[in-house]
Amino acid sequence: MTFRISLSFMIAVLFVATDLTGQRAPEFDIQSSTLEAHLRFLASDELEGRRTGARGNDIAAAYLAAQFKAHGLQTPPGQDHYYQPVPFESVTPPSSASLTIDKSDYEQGENLLIMSGNIAATKADAVFANYGWVDEEAGLNDYKGLNVKGKIVFVLPGTPEGQDPNAIFKAMGKKRKLAEEQGAVALIELYRLQFPWDFFRSYFNKETLVLVEGDEEDSDESSKLVYGWLKEKQDGQMKELQEGKRMKAEIMSEGFGKSEIHSNTVMGIIEGSDPALKEEYVLLSAHFDHVGVGKQGGGPYTAEDSIFNGARDNAMGTTALLGAMQAFAEQPPKRSIILLAVTGEEIGLLGSRYYVDNPLIPLDKTVYNVNMDGAGYNDVTYISAFGYGRTGTDRAIDAGANIFGLDVLPNPIPEQGIFDRSDNASFAAAGVPALSLSPGTTAFDEEVSKYYHQVTDNPDTIDFDYLHKYTQSIARITRLIADMDQRPMWKEGDKYEEAGRELYNR
Ligand SMILES: [Zn+2]
Repeated sequence: MTFRISLSFMIAVLFVATDLTGQRAPEFDIQSSTLEAHLRFLASDELEGRRTGARGNDIAAAYLAAQFKAHGLQTPPGQDHYYQPVPFESVTPPSSASLTIDKSDYEQGENLLIMSGNIAATKADAVFANYGWVDEEAGLNDYKGLNVKGKIVFVLPGTPEGQDPNAIFKAMGKKRKLAEEQGAVALIELYRLQFPWDFFRSYFNKETLVLVEGDEEDSDESSKLVYGWLKEKQDGQMKELQEGKRMKAEIMSEGFGKSEIHSNTVMGIIEGSDPALKEEYVLLSAHFDHVGVGKQGGGPYTAEDSIFNGARDNAMGTTALLGAMQAFAEQPPKRSIILLAVTGEEIGLLGSRYYVDNPLIPLDKTVYNVNMDGAGYNDVTYISAFGYGRTGTDRAIDAGANIFGLDVLPNPIPEQGIFDRSDNASFAAAGVPALSLSPGTTAFDEEVSKYYHQVTDNPDTIDFDYLHKYTQSIARITRLIADMDQRPMWKEGDKYEEAGRELYNR
């Protein structure tokens, strides 16, 4: 440890603050007060937790676009604005639903969770159809010899071949389709999983946003079938149905809805200063969305404070993006820079996934991604570097941080798998060498968890001196990477190396 720090300090001295022209790089003159103003605005109560699809998120996007314009950034090719509209579908579970079978009543949100479909109160035959699975190649057909037309179908979770959580989630869509093809009015999966029902129920019984993918135009059709999960009141309560006993069930569901929602990722471009290297882009990203207000936030809240401000997550990273933008606009690095303020991160990295599938500059011209995100911090002498040691940029990372008095914490808290939990993972999976920088986190301890996705993560709790150093370091690290003679690449044997070779054809 000591050796690494002293070595990196020496390297920092080699990378002097001035460039070859003798000009002092603008990241050295970034004002702390400017950064504080950005952060206090982005994490203000008025932006209501910047939830994807909500007004506070749109206002944050407008603010970012205005900053890009004020600093003369180029818009993405072929458009006259800084937005990439991302199409989402909002899915709202039924407000009320119930199911009665075998003299037991099940209510939505208690031991019943209908996820899609509306139906007026309907009495119908109940049928048990094993897993509700068909795989002709494997000789499996749970509907063989069974007439489920107009009936309520009950099934076991998963498939005959797999009942682990992954298999269960993967099979859900196909099982719905199969039941619909068979003419069933409802498909109900019996919740017989190890995973706590309470957690499952609260996770799914709220509005969710999904990306509208190109080939999902018939999604309206799948909503005709009522689909959901039932937690038996006693273990094995459905045993008689399972054994073939004839039963009736009554089901109703209302208030289920789907609607299209747009949210904007914000993108600006700064052209590089080197005539050849400017054809290559370093993409600096930070998500600006957060989780919203009240029960949207997923954590405890009170009447006095119900806003999940997301000052650390990720107004800090977004502020660092703006600080770096200002420095690069004043004095561009050799390679061109894409500034990408991403929406839809908190709902599953959806904004970055959409960008990677629909890049506004061809992805094979993007040679590196520096992402900024963070749960919080517990040690302001550090900057955390997730992906350190993997792409040949370690010298730049050390030098860029050390010059502002920060030490680099390489890949801390490995048990959290942080690298694959932010937008850099979308770029890495597509092959782009990537790095994620976070405030100094030596452990996911009390100091971190008391703010992480909590209403307490507000601007007044931020160390603004640290925000200043953090931003300057990120600007410097990104500049040093964008100025490297050789473009970075995944190290041999890295899990993303093959994707990189494929993307860049090398
Ligand atoms: Zn985040």
